[in-house]
Amino acid sequence: MCPKHFAVIGDPVEHSLSPAMHNAALQAAGIRARYEAIRVSAGDLGAWVDSEGAVGGHRSPLHGFNVTIPHKETIGGYLHEIAQGAAAVGAVNTVTFRDGRLVGHNTDGVGFLESLSAFGLDVAGQSVVVFGAGGAGRAVVHALATCGASITLVNRNLDKARKVAQRVGDGVRPMAPLDAALLPAVAGAYLLVNATSLGMKHQADSSPVPDHIDLAARTAVVDLVYGRRTPFLRRAELCGCRTMDGLEMLIRQGAAAFRLWNGVDPDLDVMREACRKRLAEVS
Ligand code: NAP
Repeated sequence: MCPKHFAVIGDPVEHSLSPAMHNAALQAAGIRARYEAIRVSAGDLGAWVDSEGAVGGHRSPLHGFNVTIPHKETIGGYLHEIAQGAAAVGAVNTVTFRDGRLVGHNTDGVGFLESLSAFGLDVAGQSVVVFGAGGAGRAVVHALATCGASITLVNRNLDKARKVAQRVGDGVRPMAPLDAALLPAVAGAYLLVNATSLGMKHQADSSPVPDHIDLAARTAVVDLVYGRRTPFLRRAELCGCRTMDGLEMLIRQGAAAFRLWNGVDPDLDVMREACRKRLAEVS
């Protein structure tokens, strides 16, 4: 039987940990396959899906692919079907081929919730402040809402936060970053989540929480950025908060994609080790 072929598409995509993580997991599971990063620019997405993702999965050399920035929101227009969870979030990060049809999924939400469980957090009935209403922020908010969390969603573009709140329902309160109500929301939160790109390489000195707002030591803090201690996490640590970066979420969302494609669970330790090794190589 021919080896299977998987990929992640994005632009840029060279930094992605997914090839290292998936190739290690595929090998550990005894699945003959390779997973590669493919740079696809925004203007080339439609042509790429036509030629590679290709109408009718059986003709495609690909058995499935991940989707990253900037295609998570636009890829849906090129697929035959979008699974309910991904449709609700309005973003796709995993594509499967089912009966010759391209189906879009979103595994970020389940990856996030599994990472919280692994961290020992139970958000049911708790107050959570999420910063960021982009693709990742929306996946996080939808996932938290399914657990019965009460969510304050803070976003620079307030309209985007309002739209998410309208879709999700009563459990979400949209808020602008400079709103005076942010201070008590942060003070009373069980969990703070950074789902903005603040703290990433190109915005390395920035934090979603202004310095004048204190963090309580009993608050847990999660930053979806991975591979670096962001200013947000460093400050939270100084305040005595428990902190977690986005690496466990990355691994868990990858594991969920692996299950969709291969029908078996990957070895999470193997995935973790491959990510840590790759991060050490690129940093
Ligand atoms: P996105 O869709 O481009 O959203 C970016 C978000 O960051 C938006 O909420 C945006 O606010 C906000 N933002 C950007 N620059 C800002 C600034 N200068 N001030 C305030 N807010 C700013 O990106 P995404 O896909 O949601 O990714 C967001 C982060 O999550 C990235 O760091 C990404 O690496 C991380 N992520 C991690 C995982 C994981 O598995 N750990 C998975 C997915 C994403 P506006 O709406 O106002 O522009």
